[in-house]
Amino acid sequence: MQYYNQNTKIFLNGEFVHANSAGIDLFGQSLHYGYGAFEGLRAYSTHNGTRIFKAEAHFDRLRKSCESIGLPYKWDNRTLIEKCYELLEINNLRAAYIRPLVFSGSNMHLTSSEDANLMLAAWEWGPYLGQHLLRVNISSYERPNPKSFHIDAKISGQYINSILASTDAIRKGFDEALLLDQDGYVAQASSENLFIEKDYKIYTSPLDNIFPGITRQTVIGICKELGFDIIEKKLTIQDVYTADSAFLSGTAAEIIGIKQVDHIIYKEEWEHSIGATIQRKYKNLVLEQENYEVII
Ligand code: PMP
Repeated sequence: MQYYNQNTKIFLNGEFVHANSAGIDLFGQSLHYGYGAFEGLRAYSTHNGTRIFKAEAHFDRLRKSCESIGLPYKWDNRTLIEKCYELLEINNLRAAYIRPLVFSGSNMHLTSSEDANLMLAAWEWGPYLGQHLLRVNISSYERPNPKSFHIDAKISGQYINSILASTDAIRKGFDEALLLDQDGYVAQASSENLFIEKDYKIYTSPLDNIFPGITRQTVIGICKELGFDIIEKKLTIQDVYTADSAFLSGTAAEIIGIKQVDHIIYKEEWEHSIGATIQRKYKNLVLEQENYEVII
């Protein structure tokens, strides 16, 4: 996949520059140690024009991520959101994935950086895991331990864990991996949150050992709005195996159904699941078609 061409511009430290001429310092902690923070937002082409979904929440989280690792953060949400819209316009993008990245300056020490750079880039990207129902496995890789990492922050180095788990899943013929937490509960997927449906109720892991997905929060809101029971509880492997259906949520993947976990194939047709209704409602929400009827 090509993320940029010779015309692509990115926003880097206050100005728009060509992506292929933006230099990077090879002596920075972000490259060597994964000491950086990032976000992933989506812009949708709606009947109100191009609209970035929940931009404030994403930039709030970026600030918190940086603060959690002591990476200086000197930008405000309003400016960054304005720059995102400008970035889309400059690159002729109406619907796109937007990637903000905060990375350190020159420093090889294992102590917090005193300066930081900010980049915004955007590219066209379909749903990250495609549109087909997923086959997932329970990974042998666990999620990082909350006592050794700020797991509620989107820190670059942490994603090695995601790369290991999803690469291993794909090598074994699956599409994505579910990871256990340090207590053996099913926490989430490598870069999405997990929901299961059982007896017309929706369950998802509580926040303690998972990444606090903005889409997860949106799904919880949708459930409440549509009158579905939504319960936050620790999920055992057995809970996941014996569910009626399940789905993943994330900005990049959006809402995507799961048809199989390890050797277990869910019996309920995805189209008849609560997840499918939530998926339709989510689509309407991001496209600002809020007055459209959702068929339950
Ligand atoms: N878990 C992890 C580890 C993530 O990186 C992400 C974001 N890609 C998610 C869950 C989903 O978060 P959000 O809904 O905010 O995109």
